[in-house]
Amino acid sequence: MDKDQVSILIVDDDEGNRYTLSRRLRRDGYSNVQLAEDGSSALEMMRSQRFDLVLLDIMMPGMNGYDVLEALRNQPVMQDVPVIVISALTEIDSVARCIELGAEDYLPKPFNPVLLRARVSASLEKHRLRQLQVASFEERVERLMELVVDGILIMDERGIIEVCNAAAAQMFGTDEASILDRHVGEFIMEFEHLKGEEGAFEPLVAASGAGSTQTQECHGQRADARVFPLDVGMRELHDRGRRLFAVSLRDQTARKLAEEQKLRDALYDRLTGLPNRSLMMDRLGHALQRVQRSRDRRFGLLFINIDRFRVVNDSLGHAVGDQILVEIARRLDAALRPGDSLARLGGDEFVALIEDIPDYDAAILCAERLQRTMIEPIHVEDQQIVLTCSMGILLSSGQYERAEEMLQDADVAMLRAKGAGKARFHVFQEGMRSSATRLLHVENNLRRALTDNSDEIVAFYQPVIDLDTGRIAGFEALVRWFDGDGKMMSPGDFIPLAEETGLIVPLGLRVLEQSCLQLKRWSEQSPHELFMSVNVSGRQLDQPSVFDDFRSVVERTGVDPSRLKLEITESVVMDNPDQTEQLLHRLRGLKLNISVDDFGTGYSSLAYLHKFPIDTLKIDRSFISSMQEKQDNKEIVRVILALANSLSLEVVAEGVETQEELRVLRELGCGYAQGYLMARPLPAAEAEALLLSDPRW
Ligand code: C2E
Ligand code: CA
Ligand code: CA
Repeated sequence: MDKDQVSILIVDDDEGNRYTLSRRLRRDGYSNVQLAEDGSSALEMMRSQRFDLVLLDIMMPGMNGYDVLEALRNQPVMQDVPVIVISALTEIDSVARCIELGAEDYLPKPFNPVLLRARVSASLEKHRLRQLQVASFEERVERLMELVVDGILIMDERGIIEVCNAAAAQMFGTDEASILDRHVGEFIMEFEHLKGEEGAFEPLVAASGAGSTQTQECHGQRADARVFPLDVGMRELHDRGRRLFAVSLRDQTARKLAEEQKLRDALYDRLTGLPNRSLMMDRLGHALQRVQRSRDRRFGLLFINIDRFRVVNDSLGHAVGDQILVEIARRLDAALRPGDSLARLGGDEFVALIEDIPDYDAAILCAERLQRTMIEPIHVEDQQIVLTCSMGILLSSGQYERAEEMLQDADVAMLRAKGAGKARFHVFQEGMRSSATRLLHVENNLRRALTDNSDEIVAFYQPVIDLDTGRIAGFEALVRWFDGDGKMMSPGDFIPLAEETGLIVPLGLRVLEQSCLQLKRWSEQSPHELFMSVNVSGRQLDQPSVFDDFRSVVERTGVDPSRLKLEITESVVMDNPDQTEQLLHRLRGLKLNISVDDFGTGYSSLAYLHKFPIDTLKIDRSFISSMQEKQDNKEIVRVILALANSLSLEVVAEGVETQEELRVLRELGCGYAQGYLMARPLPAAEAEALLLSDPRW
C-alpha cells in the first residue's frame, strides 16, 4: 500500500506523546497523520472520515481507551479499522482486555522507533488482506489491480476486455475507459499465441505444471501506433459460472533497452563507440576464413599505439585524455576506407583491419595516411596537443590460423616501432616473434620477482675511489636479478624490458630502498663519510608520483639524503629538458644529489648543463677505456674535466680497468674513479668486507 495514501489517527491525551509519535510516523513516510486529544473527539473524527489505522492510548481522562474500543465495536462502518493500543509496561494487564475488545496489537511506551515501524506496517498489511477476503469478487479484483504495478486486463472468452487497471491503460498510452469493451487484439499484437489448439484462449501454464503462470513474449501496440515489447501472462478466473481471463502485462521496453546496451557494451567501446577487442577478434576471424578460401586475397592489420599517451593522460587528467582518445578514434576512422574497420583494444591501443590489400606497399601507404592524420594538433581545453603513434604492420598469410596469433604479431611489430624511437611503423618479420615470446616469459618472471616478497632482485655495489686519498668514497648500486634457478642476470638483460613494461618503477624503488638501508649501515661502520649512487631510469622520472615515492623512501629508511646521488643518463636529461629541470629542482629540495650518467655520449648543451641542479658528471666508459689508443679521447676527458671544473661539478671516471688509465686520470686531475681495476660490482657482504679493510689505490 502506498504510504502516502494511508491515513493514521493518533489518540493520546499527552501532547508530548502525540508529537513524538506523529513525527516518527511522518519520518517513516506516512504523511497523513492526524491527532486527537481525547476519546470523544477521536470517535467524532472517525465518523466523518476513513482511517486505515488508529493508535490509541488507554489511560485518558473522560472517555478512555476501553470506552473508545467499546464504541467502535458497535459501529459497523468503523469496526474494521485496526487499532493499536499504546501502553506503558505498568498497564500491560489491561492490554489483554483491549485485545478482547478488538484491538489489533499493542505498542509499548516509551516508543521504540523500530518496533513502531514494524507494528504499524504489520497492522496495515493484515488489514489489507482481511479486506480482500471479505470483499466481493469485483472488489477483490479491483483492489488487487490497484496493488500491482503490472498492467492487468480482464477479458471474456472472446477476448473482449471487461476490466483494465491504470497501469495497463498507461502502457497503451490511453485511459482506462477507452480500453474497455474493445478486443484484446487491438492491444496485443500476437494475441493469437494466447490461444490453445482449439482456437480458444487458454491459461498460460508453465511446462513444469503446478499451475504456475508462464509468460509469453509479445508486442503491445499503443494508441499512437508505437509498438513495444510486452510480456504477457494469462490466468483463468471463474465468476458465477462465467469463464474469464486475467491477462497480466509487463512492459519490457526498459529491459530490452538494457539488454541492447549490454550487447553494445559487450561488442563496442563505450568511450569511442568503436568496436572493442571481442568484436575485432570476431571480424578478424571472419577475414581469416575468407582469405583461407581464396588464396589470392589478403588483408592487412595495423596495430596502433599512441606515443607518450600515458604522460598526456597523467599531466592533463583523464577527462582530457578521454577527449583526445575520442578525437583520435574519429580521425583514424575517417582516414580508413568504408570497408575497413577500426577497433579500440583498450587504453591507447587501436587496431585497423584493412580489407583486400595486395601487398605490403599498400599497407604502408595506409599506415602513412593514418600517421598523417595523427600529427595534426588536437585542440582540447585551449591547448594544442601534438601526438604521434607507433604502428605494427602485418599482412595475412597462409600460415595464420587464429586471429589471436595475428594480433599478437602485429603487436610485436608495433613494439619494435616504439623501441626504434616512436612515431614510426614497423613491418612484422619472422624472428620478431620468438624474441617476443621470450620477452613475455621474462616479463612474467620479473613481475613475480617484484610482487612476491622474493629476494630475487638485489643490488650489487661497486666502489668509487677518491683519487686524492686512494680510498673508497662511495658505491654505485647496480641491480642484479637471480631468477628462480638462481641464475644471475645483468641489467642489460632485463632493464630495457622493465622500462618498456613499466616494471622499472617498482624495481627502481626496490633498489633505492635497499641501497639507502645499506648506506645507512655502512655510514655507521665506516670512519669516513660515504655516498651511494643509484641509477634512475627516464621512465621513473615520467611517473607523476616519482617525487613522493623518492621522498617516502628517504623518510622511511632514515638515510641522509645529502649522501645519496641519483644517476640519470645524459640522454634522459636532454630528452625533455624543461620538465626534467623542474623535477630535478624539486629533488634537490629534498637534498638529494644529481649525477649525469654516461656523460659525453649524448648531446648535452652547455647552457642546459648550467641550468640543471647537477653535482656530478660521470664520464662514459667508452672514453676511458680507449684513452691510450686514441689521443682524441684523452683530449675529450681533459675538456670534460675543465668544463666540470668551471661549473664546480665533481667528476667520476667509470670503467677504469688498468693502472695506466688510473695514472692518466690522476694526472688530468679527475676526482673519482670506478672500474674493474679497483673492484667489480660486489654483493653487499663482500662490498662491506672490502670497505672495512680500508684499501688504498
Ligand atoms: P651504468 O650506470 O653505466 O653502470 C656501469 C656499468 O658498467 C655496470 O654494468 C658496471 O658493472 C659496468 N662496469 C663498471 N666498471 C667496469 C669496467 O671497468 N669495465 C667494464 N667493461 N664495465 C664496467 P651493469 O651493472 O651491467 O649495469 C649496466 C647498466 O644497467 C648500468 O649502466 C645502468 O644504466 C643500468 N642499471 C644498473 N642498475 C640499475 C638500476 O638499479 N636501475 C636502473 N634504472 N638502471 C640500472
Ligand atoms: Ca650508473
Ligand atoms: Ca655509465
